[in-house]
Amino acid sequence: MQRLKITSIEAAPLFGESPKGGWSTEIKPDDSIHALIAVHTDAGITGLGSVFTDGRMVQAALQVLRPLFDGENALEPERVAEKLHQNTFWMGRGGVITHTISGIDIALWDILGKVTHQPVGRLLGGTYRHRVQPYCSLLMEEPQQMADTVAAFRARGFRAFKIGWGPFGRALDPKLDETIVRAAREAAGDTAKLFVDAGASDAYWPHGLKWALRTAQMLDDFDVGWFEEPLRPDALDDYCALRLQSRVPIAGGEVLTRRQSFLPWLSRGAFDIVQPDVTKVGGISEQRRIAWLADEFGVKYIGHGWNTALGLAADLHLAAAMPQTDLVEFIGGSPYVDGILSEPFMLDDEGYLAIPDGPGLGVQLDPAKLARFTPNPEVLFAPPKRR
Ligand SMILES: [Mg+2]
Repeated sequence: MQRLKITSIEAAPLFGESPKGGWSTEIKPDDSIHALIAVHTDAGITGLGSVFTDGRMVQAALQVLRPLFDGENALEPERVAEKLHQNTFWMGRGGVITHTISGIDIALWDILGKVTHQPVGRLLGGTYRHRVQPYCSLLMEEPQQMADTVAAFRARGFRAFKIGWGPFGRALDPKLDETIVRAAREAAGDTAKLFVDAGASDAYWPHGLKWALRTAQMLDDFDVGWFEEPLRPDALDDYCALRLQSRVPIAGGEVLTRRQSFLPWLSRGAFDIVQPDVTKVGGISEQRRIAWLADEFGVKYIGHGWNTALGLAADLHLAAAMPQTDLVEFIGGSPYVDGILSEPFMLDDEGYLAIPDGPGLGVQLDPAKLARFTPNPEVLFAPPKRR
């Protein structure tokens, strides 16, 4: 097969069940912050992807991008995604357009895998692992509630946890911050991995470098594996200073998009761990290039994965293909992760996830389950008739 023509690309915005973000302006049920994407082809093969942006804006971006992807060859993800990036430069190089291209690119890799009968991870260059440890990502809460939540997910088999956002730092109470982390560490157990995410990309983050330095010292006492987004998202110099002085590894990068944006952060030494989001940066093609670029600088790539089961599937395949990527993010208790696949992801006895080994992303959406979250799930399974 030389060519598979893209006949349409559709988006299904997800509504109603977005987990709380711990944001200053909290997510409401009628907000859409994620969309699923389907790329339909003339051979009847459909690829699936995920986008971390309001689904209604994704639908608008698809209208803008349509002349560029209509009739394109669905077997060439990197070239087609690059064509979309290169020809939309004047719309800002980033933001909704780049987020939407992410979902298209993920779907094109899914198609290439389905056509070649290979898992995406192998198409990315080879398989370093067949399973990966998910860390359970949880919203920071008051200490007793935090302990109860971590204990509940530990009972479900998770052995790695990240707590973030909510009152941490925002309550302007360092004692409370420490009490929350202590409660989480005690509930997780001494041998569990524990990470802390300040979420300083939130609106009006109230702290600077000195807070981050003191807090990093406190986190070291609880054997915290990384300190994520401890500073405002544009504070490149402070990130570099913090990384030099903190014993706890510094993580960030979830708000950056496009591979080019990562270059100064990597070359100047801002991060120990870089966390691009495959559903925002430009998809698997872009994420792979960022991951390898980071590797050249000795920075570990562990993707940001606060999105959907399709985003998680993409993260798993990238983890298969990257030598150092031994963790994926897994939102604790999100219906968009646990409730949209015909066979949901399951932990094994040691708290790991198997990387799907079927063709493409290796996962199937369940139309009946999806109907709870999006008004027209059918557009993901067959192209709608257009006049
Ligand atoms: Mg984060």
